[in-house]
Amino acid sequence: MRIDLHTHSNVSDGTQPPAVLLAAARDAGLDALALTDHDTTDGWAEASTAAREIGVALVPGMEVSCRTAEGISVHLLSYLHDPAHPGLLEEITKAKDARLSRAERMVERLAEDYPLNWDDVTQHMAPGATVGRPHIADALVAAGVVADRSEAFASILTSHSHYYVSHYAPDPMRAVELVRAAGGVPVFAHPVASARGRVVGEQTFRDMIDAGLLGVEVDHRDNPEEGKAWLRALAARHALLVTGSSDYHGLGKPNQLGENLTAPDVLSRIEDLSSGTVVVRP
Ligand code: AMP
Ligand code: FE
Ligand code: FE
Ligand code: ZN
Repeated sequence: MRIDLHTHSNVSDGTQPPAVLLAAARDAGLDALALTDHDTTDGWAEASTAAREIGVALVPGMEVSCRTAEGISVHLLSYLHDPAHPGLLEEITKAKDARLSRAERMVERLAEDYPLNWDDVTQHMAPGATVGRPHIADALVAAGVVADRSEAFASILTSHSHYYVSHYAPDPMRAVELVRAAGGVPVFAHPVASARGRVVGEQTFRDMIDAGLLGVEVDHRDNPEEGKAWLRALAARHALLVTGSSDYHGLGKPNQLGENLTAPDVLSRIEDLSSGTVVVRP
């Protein structure tokens, strides 16, 4: 069984529609795929239909944008939660709306120095998608300012950049509690990905575990090797699930489907521990 538990479609910042993503999963030889778009479950319906037709199991999921009191960005994966849970829905809607005004402000700042306007950003986006810096990167690529998203993130769009604006995001402890309240399984995404920005210290892991965290994404290309070893030891101490995944974004990132995998017994545990929705099996 080849299981990839973290991917994005163009319902957030991936480049492929959910049905195309499921077809790509089949072509990559995957048996099961989680769709984990940022702050939205709007891709679940199309992905479910495609999963049945294509013959790949779909694990409905989401990646919740969070920020700690110290201002450190945390991404929390949620698996098999109830998409209609009011508390969780309210928080992700707030974050998604805040992302829109934040992106508009970033474009205003960028427009002072680069040939870029808001239409250039929305042109490359699916209607209603969760907007993020990757979409601004796409507009900068189209304008010939940078070659690809990676170059944009390495320069103009870093969190230290003069053009960077932050957006509302719930505290990770609250997000963990809400995912659990919605019957979902919360897993800390790429927890030690230091190249992306500051990462949280051990106390935040403890606080998230106390709040109900159930797993850590260990096998992810952005976690350095020594960080993976530390995470495995933490997971063993606290009986956390250990996952692995690609964080595939279509053509938007070099990450390839199935480059990291999750063990079948871990997916079984996720199913046992959840009560919000179920895996869609062909
Ligand atoms: P945002 O959430 O809008 O602040 O943007 C962060 C998102 O950008 C993350 O979810 C990643 O998917 C994406 N991202 C981060 N670094 C890169 C990169 N080097 N190349 C492409 N996408 C990236
Ligand atoms: Fe992303
Ligand atoms: Fe992430
Ligand atoms: Zn992701």
